[in-house]
Amino acid sequence: MADNYDAIVIGAGLAGMGAAALLQRGGMNTLLIEKEPKPGGRTGYFDLEGGWRVDIGLHLLELGDASALHRMIQAAGKEVKWAKFSEDVGVFQDGKWQDQAALLSLSKEDLDELKAMMKRIATMDDAEIESNDLTGWGDWLARNTKSTVIRHLFEVNGMIMTTVPDPMEMAAGEVLFIARDSLTNKRQFLSAAYPVGGMAGVVDPLVESFKEAGGTLMCGTTVDSVLIDNRKTRGVAIKKKSLSPYSDWWYMPDNEVIEAPVVLCALPMWSLDAILDVNPATSPMPHWWIKRFEDMKLETTGLIGHVVGLKEPVYDKPNFLSVLELEKTRMPFQAFVPSAFDPGVAPEGKSILATDCVVEPDQIFDTFELGRLLKSMWEDTKIMFPGIEDKIEWIYEYKCVGCDGLARKPGQVGRYKPDVVAPAVDGLFFAGDTYQGRGLAVNGAARSGHKCAETILDKHGK
Ligand SMILES: Cc1cc2nc3c(=O)[nH]c(=O)nc-3n(C[C@H](O)[C@H](O)[C@H](O)COP(=O)(O)OP(=O)(O)OC[C@H]3O[C@@H](n4cnc5c(N)ncnc54)[C@H](O)[C@@H]3O)c2cc1C
Repeated sequence: MADNYDAIVIGAGLAGMGAAALLQRGGMNTLLIEKEPKPGGRTGYFDLEGGWRVDIGLHLLELGDASALHRMIQAAGKEVKWAKFSEDVGVFQDGKWQDQAALLSLSKEDLDELKAMMKRIATMDDAEIESNDLTGWGDWLARNTKSTVIRHLFEVNGMIMTTVPDPMEMAAGEVLFIARDSLTNKRQFLSAAYPVGGMAGVVDPLVESFKEAGGTLMCGTTVDSVLIDNRKTRGVAIKKKSLSPYSDWWYMPDNEVIEAPVVLCALPMWSLDAILDVNPATSPMPHWWIKRFEDMKLETTGLIGHVVGLKEPVYDKPNFLSVLELEKTRMPFQAFVPSAFDPGVAPEGKSILATDCVVEPDQIFDTFELGRLLKSMWEDTKIMFPGIEDKIEWIYEYKCVGCDGLARKPGQVGRYKPDVVAPAVDGLFFAGDTYQGRGLAVNGAARSGHKCAETILDKHGK
């Protein structure tokens, strides 16, 4: 490579793109390497013939114009346009979709308790939130609520925030942080938003910012390894294009080296050991870090669902749809209609429906269980959206292990997540939703990317 890079960022997800844009704008000549043909990572999108723009799976982003993601994109010199949104949550009850708030009949005592809880959470300081990072949300609620109706309501919201199905397994500190952020910015317990253009609305501005500032984006290139000599980062080796069509098992040892004194690994922990030596006998990383890494890297959750292109809508309100337990699949369900938020993502008069169910990773690894669940989920979808089968133009089923980074369970949030600065190795950094940075998924990734870029600029910037 002819260029002299100050920094290499591995992975063009939101964290990597945001950090790369900020580094480049901060005066560091940066190379961003992505193994897929397009940037976007888990917030990727693609176009289908006829005018469809499709996000990978169901994506609604917490807090919209008050989010950490919005702030990171603004810091990169760009603006996000957010679609109009209805804050009603639709729940499926008595054979139809109904407004959750209208269905919720709270006694005066329940209402007083709800108001008191909201006020208490909104005024919590960071220290109190952090002191709950080792506590389960179910335990916290048992100690702090009397009403079973309120407890149930908060449990459902905790599930949406953490994608962890069991309240006892959700980290109270993380739920409280997300709720405080939402209450102080939007005066509600949980708030969601959809960018105009779907995920393209947040991915494209970051790519533009990076390129306009002179950054180099290299897609379709897989990093083979991070190069570290004497605890100092030297750069990366990229995989040479295989001469054989069987690229997965045809190992090409003479990889190309690209040098830089700073390397930021903006890929999730479960992909990190493919590029960083974590063998305790040979790794430059200290043993305590490797032990924690090995312990945490597969602690994640999974999602399965359908994204369906429809000749005409089966539901047309721009709001979030939720079911605590599906009739047949017996699992929590979420859905929304992207084209109801932004009609521009579907051809005129047509519609997209995105659905998901939160599952354990083991249910995805077992392909027979996965097939059974998706089939059963589709049977439930047909009940909730009658006539859907006759309106399908295209449909895809999806599955994803590692949807939201590290599962937000006690001991895996806040300071308990690995830091963005690597210990013991000069010039090595991490970013993304599996590293330090609180908030609901994309906001955790954005906080971590933003913090990491600021730290690098502070230490190595020009
Ligand atoms: C189906 C689905 C639904 C979701 N729904 C929501 C939602 O509604 N709300 C929400 O807030 N969040 C949601 N999330 C989570 C959110 O998408 C992620 O938290 C966020 O996008 C993570 O960004 P990241 O930059 O940390 O990681 P990623 O987006 O995973 O980026 C990492 C990048 O590194 C690349 N890479 C990996 N290995 C290499 C290598 N060796 N060389 C080069 N490149 C490499 C990958 O291809 C990828 O592009 C959802 C995720 C999924 C999958």
